[in-house]
Amino acid sequence: MDEAQQALTRVISRERIHERVRDMARDLSTAFSGKEPLFIGVLNGAVFFLADLVRELTIPCRIDFIKAASYGTGTTSSGKVRLTKEVDLEIGGEDVILVEDIVDTGLTLKSILEQVEQKGPASVHVCALIDKRECRTEEIRVDFSGFEVERGFLVGYGLDCNERHRNLPDIYALG
Ligand code: 5GP
Repeated sequence: MDEAQQALTRVISRERIHERVRDMARDLSTAFSGKEPLFIGVLNGAVFFLADLVRELTIPCRIDFIKAASYGTGTTSSGKVRLTKEVDLEIGGEDVILVEDIVDTGLTLKSILEQVEQKGPASVHVCALIDKRECRTEEIRVDFSGFEVERGFLVGYGLDCNERHRNLPDIYALG
């Protein structure tokens, strides 16, 4: 079936998302009280999440973005990740918070983390909207996690399927 015609089943409503994002912003504001962390959003999927999250913070912060491409072909990830957009701000000595839309196997994040850590930040934490912990093959710690989802391919609220569905305000399972 054409993916554009695949059924969408709503799994997380916009109300639940916004409530959870507010809670996460509160937790982050407490954890980084007195600091000015550098939020690094992983493009493209984390844009909506990051925008909502930082607007609920009660601490100052700076924002930058990073973009990664897997060397794999099609839907299979090779685990080797190339940065197609580097962070522009200086990372050395900063409290970095990497913001991801979804962590699945953890391969992408592991590789991004290795590359960020090489630049000597004071600390690095991971904040992900969705943690598909059951699918994890890499040992990655998600410090601030929005929702745990067991399986299914999710779209909406920044998550895409071939660049479709990112704009949906709720999160859906595809197919
Ligand atoms: P990982 O390297 O952890 O296996 O995969 C991470 C990336 O795969 C995510 O940043 C996201 O781009 C994509 N991904 C994994 N699961 C899903 C999903 O359920 N829906 C969407 N839209 N992307 C996913």
